[in-house]
Amino acid sequence: MNRKLLLINPVEKADINISDVPVLRLPPLSLAYIAALTPSDWDIKVVDENIEPLSIEDADLVGLTAMTSNARRAYEIAALYREKGIKTLMGGIHASILYDEAIQFVDSVVIGEAESVWHSLIHDFETNRLKRFYIGEHTSLENLVRARRHLYSDKYKIKNSVQTARGCPMDCEFCSVTTFNGGKYRQRPVEEVLDELESISSRLIYFVDDNILGYGEKAEQRAIQLFKGMKERGLNKRWASQVGIDFASNPEVLKYAQKAGCSAVFIGFESLNEDVLQDMHKIRNLKARVSNYKEIVKRIHDYGIAVIGAFTFGNDGDRKDIFPRTAEFLLDSKMDAQQLTILTPLPGTRLYNRLAQESRLFRTNYPDDWKYYDFTEAVFKPKHMSPDELKEGVAEIYKRTTLRAISLKRAYRSLLNTKNLYATIISYFFNRGYGSICMKKYEHWKKAMSQTPMAAEKPEKEAEKIVV
Ligand code: SF4
Repeated sequence: MNRKLLLINPVEKADINISDVPVLRLPPLSLAYIAALTPSDWDIKVVDENIEPLSIEDADLVGLTAMTSNARRAYEIAALYREKGIKTLMGGIHASILYDEAIQFVDSVVIGEAESVWHSLIHDFETNRLKRFYIGEHTSLENLVRARRHLYSDKYKIKNSVQTARGCPMDCEFCSVTTFNGGKYRQRPVEEVLDELESISSRLIYFVDDNILGYGEKAEQRAIQLFKGMKERGLNKRWASQVGIDFASNPEVLKYAQKAGCSAVFIGFESLNEDVLQDMHKIRNLKARVSNYKEIVKRIHDYGIAVIGAFTFGNDGDRKDIFPRTAEFLLDSKMDAQQLTILTPLPGTRLYNRLAQESRLFRTNYPDDWKYYDFTEAVFKPKHMSPDELKEGVAEIYKRTTLRAISLKRAYRSLLNTKNLYATIISYFFNRGYGSICMKKYEHWKKAMSQTPMAAEKPEKEAEKIVV
């Protein structure tokens, strides 16, 4: 009889969860890759708690992957299976960085990218010699296995995500990509990506790369080749991706991205404050200049592509005026949609280490408190405002930019600016989805604060007691 591998994407249970935003519910691509690497005499099931509830079922081996905010839930699930005598293992960015924490809750931890160690892990399991740690390398992305997407549930809005590159040399202070995927930008061969895209029947694609354009002239040429190839092969996709701010600097990039069906790009503008960009080490944004942000949005619109901007608040250079300034900029710049996050010190980042050294973290009852590290909660003491003011400030921007009537107006404007229906639909649902969930979460928190004085106890007071 075949052995059974259960691959789980755990999601922290909360009254209102940021992963409730439908457009953010992407299938767990890493698990589909793991499935593809597993020998054919294993039966495999993928369960994503974003999409369906987990029912504890029989398995020989259970694999979990988790971002930091879902780590506590991953440990909880692992305990349920271990009680039944089933071996568990965990990989992904959180376990890779905090492997000493993770190993207390699972039988084995995969540190780093799993491709290079998965075969030996399965062999060790089959011969009853599972090790506590497996250290994956940053291998070449040539001849990558084809992700087994047929294992995904049918309930995703965007079912098909594709990765074309990994790694980032920029090492921004708040980001853990360089630690996890390495400082080298590794690219899949263009023809292999095109073959994979050709094998996907669905029209909508999300490229999960941190920056599909890459870094430097050579990487940019490779992106152009990819876009040209999509057009030449007549793939007829409509797609979105994360890109760097340089996306707008080269008309060739814009022209071929448009021809290839690009409908929206997600750009980390991060801040309107150049001192903040300097502190973050966001070099390319500094080079592009904040004063040009508006022009960048316009240039991208000229090629029929919507712009979703990411902004972070609570930085040491942020004062309370950053909230109204950003709201005005979002409306004035004609940006189509935005993701506003509270600066979150993820483990493994220079930001986490710095704030810990400065005794400014106040959600430190780990692993329980990892659930607060979801980019909507203040988990540290900002310099020029209180944690409550930080939450209120971000909620205020959402209120000014994403209420239904405003989102509808913005969608109409997106249609005029891009003349692209897909771009308009993506922007509208991003605004309404992300904005309304963040607002709901904020109102829920406000209500809890007013109803139960104990809940209003300021955890940041605890920060003063923490000695690092
Ligand atoms: S935020 Fe973007 S540019 Fe900065 S390190 Fe992360 S992936 Fe690289």
